[in-house]
Amino acid sequence: MNKDFFVHESSFIDDGVTVGKGTKIWHFCHIQSGAVIGGNCSLGQNVNISNNVIIGNGVKIQNNVSVYEGVELEDWVFCGPSCVFTNDLTPRAKYPKGRAGYKKTLVKTGASIGANATVVCGHTVGEWALIAAGAVVTSDVPAHALMAGVPAKRIGWVCECGQVLDRELACPDCGRKYERDSDSISEVR
Ligand SMILES: [Zn+2]
Repeated sequence: MNKDFFVHESSFIDDGVTVGKGTKIWHFCHIQSGAVIGGNCSLGQNVNISNNVIIGNGVKIQNNVSVYEGVELEDWVFCGPSCVFTNDLTPRAKYPKGRAGYKKTLVKTGASIGANATVVCGHTVGEWALIAAGAVVTSDVPAHALMAGVPAKRIGWVCECGQVLDRELACPDCGRKYERDSDSISEVR
C-alpha cells in the first residue's frame, strides 16, 4: 500500500484497501477490505467504510458516519456528522440477504448530506444537491435540489457554491446562473 496519506494509529485499515494521496483518516476509523478511497479526502472520527465501497476524490466525511457496502460517493461529496446510509430496504435479523440483496445508493459529484440526515438505499442523490440536516431521503434527488423534511421534499435549488438560488435561479453569492431542465436545473455558461 502506498503511504502518502495519513492514518491515525487508532484506526484499522484492512488488507486490500486503496487510499489516495493526501487523504487523512482520523481517530477510531475502520476501512474494510476492497474499499477504494480517492485522494485528498478527510474521514473524521469514528468513520466506517465497508467492504468494496468506492469513494472519489476530495470527499469529506464528518464524525460518526458508516458508509455501507452498496454505497458509492463521487468526487467532492460532503457527509455531515452522524448522517446515515443503509443498504437493505427490508432487513431481517433472521433472513440476511447478503451482498446480492443490497440496494445501491449513489451520491453524485459535489452533493452534501446534512448532519443526522438519512439516505434510504436504492436512490441517487444528484450533483451538487443539498440534503438538509435531519432529512430522510426516500426518492431520487435531482441535481442542485435542496431537500428537507421527513420524507424529504424539494424546497428549493442550490448553487454549486452551496448558496440557495433566488427565484430567477441566480446565485446571490457567486453570480452563477441556472435554467430549468425537465426535472432539474443546469448552469447557464
Ligand atoms: Zn453560487
